[in-house]
Amino acid sequence: MGSEEETKKKNEVFDAEAASLFVKELRGTFASGKTKSYGWRVSQLKSLMKMLNEREPDIVDALRQDLDKPELESSIYEVALLKTSIKSALKELKHWMTPEKAICSEPPIYMEIHFVTNIENNNFNSFPVLSLDPVVGAIAAGNALVLKPSEVAPASSSLLAKLVGEYMDLSSIRVVEGAVAETSALLDQKWDKICYTGNSRVARIVMAAAAKHLTPVLLELGGKSPVVFDSGINLKVACRRMIMGKWGCNNGQACISPDHIITTKDYAPKLLESLKNELENFYGKNPLESKDLSRIVNSNHFARLSKLLDDDKVSGKIVHGGERDKNKLRIAPTLLLDVPRDSLIMSEEIFGPLLPILTVDKIEDSFDIINSGTKPLAAYLFTNNKKLKQQFVETVSAGGLVINDTAVHLAVHSLPFGGVQESGMGAYHGKFSFDVFSHKKAVLSRGFIGDVPVRYPPYTKGKLRL
Ligand code: NAD
Repeated sequence: MGSEEETKKKNEVFDAEAASLFVKELRGTFASGKTKSYGWRVSQLKSLMKMLNEREPDIVDALRQDLDKPELESSIYEVALLKTSIKSALKELKHWMTPEKAICSEPPIYMEIHFVTNIENNNFNSFPVLSLDPVVGAIAAGNALVLKPSEVAPASSSLLAKLVGEYMDLSSIRVVEGAVAETSALLDQKWDKICYTGNSRVARIVMAAAAKHLTPVLLELGGKSPVVFDSGINLKVACRRMIMGKWGCNNGQACISPDHIITTKDYAPKLLESLKNELENFYGKNPLESKDLSRIVNSNHFARLSKLLDDDKVSGKIVHGGERDKNKLRIAPTLLLDVPRDSLIMSEEIFGPLLPILTVDKIEDSFDIINSGTKPLAAYLFTNNKKLKQQFVETVSAGGLVINDTAVHLAVHSLPFGGVQESGMGAYHGKFSFDVFSHKKAVLSRGFIGDVPVRYPPYTKGKLRL
């Protein structure tokens, strides 16, 4: 069956009416109190862990089908990362669930965890981490939820639906497969929280739909995340760390991927030489054949990236790579030097293996360039200069900042992960996930003694003097 026909068939099955029925069932489960119990949350987190332990080969295989993602990359950056997240939730859950006493001695105010029925709507890259990491938080917070994986990664989407069916409690956790029609049917419903991972154009559609019901949203978006290279650093180590953040995760098709480099005119030749050397050390002389690089997810994205390279404004600017294979959907790691700021490649998020290098006279000028654009999901700086680090932290606005590495903050669960303005809204990971999928209900409870008559009318002058 062709994909158009398949989608049409799914549309017939999953329309607004079906979506509404779905939500009704999930709300029924929630109302029964099942998902709020500590026991249910632990059992579902354990089932998720069991699923990862038993089905890792299937997950690796789905990612291979969708992206030709290297096995080690899938195991370490997907499965192992998600297991860490589940382990930490299991360890901390009791503590997270304990009502918090407010800092107020009298009367005691405590926090209660409250109901959220949650919709996840994910982009293609990174199953299981991006699809299931928010689910860990939503389960920990005692929610019923629906997960809508991206249709752009069909093998991952159908595996996710299958595994959730086999391992999870279907009265509270469901997967809806499909594309725009199915997402729109879901967005028509009233949710208590919507978490969307993807681009900022669709995020606006999601937010507009959420506004109808005043539903809060968690938007995990992207942006043009810059890397600033100062001089006087351990260049070999810096380049290796930069390459892993850029090409070591889906060949640049990741939200926290470095989008472009900014360095000084003087330092650029040295940096370029080191980058070329390390790229060759990692991916060989013919990176199109490398087994350690993912392919581009589909022909639309291949065409989009090709357009960025074919733009007249960057003609002659490729200084490394540039090779493409349309049939295999492969693009080699590609460096471009001194591209004009008004070129296509500098006007949209690249989300692929191309890396422009911009040059400035003074390294401090980099921060002005970053702050003149929309706020990125991440910003990176390589330096040994204490003052520059401080200036970076104080002046650059981005979802997250990393000094002397790239992308690793994603794996640190004690840090909130999320964007700012154009790169997103809200944050999750670790306890932040639990918080973002909970409602902090303030409860003030007191006894009957100690009633103060002065608060009641009539407001006599005598009372005023007290
Ligand atoms: P996308 O927005 O095209 O797709 C994501 C989801 O949106 C899919 O489930 C799709 O069905 C749905 N969708 C698409 N069009 C829709 C419409 N008109 N109405 C309703 N739903 C619709 O995702 P993408 O563009 O492939 O994702 C790439 C972007 O995601 C990049 O900007 C990247 O930086 C960002 N991203 C962010 C994170 C993060 O955690 N912050 C992670 C990965 C990717």
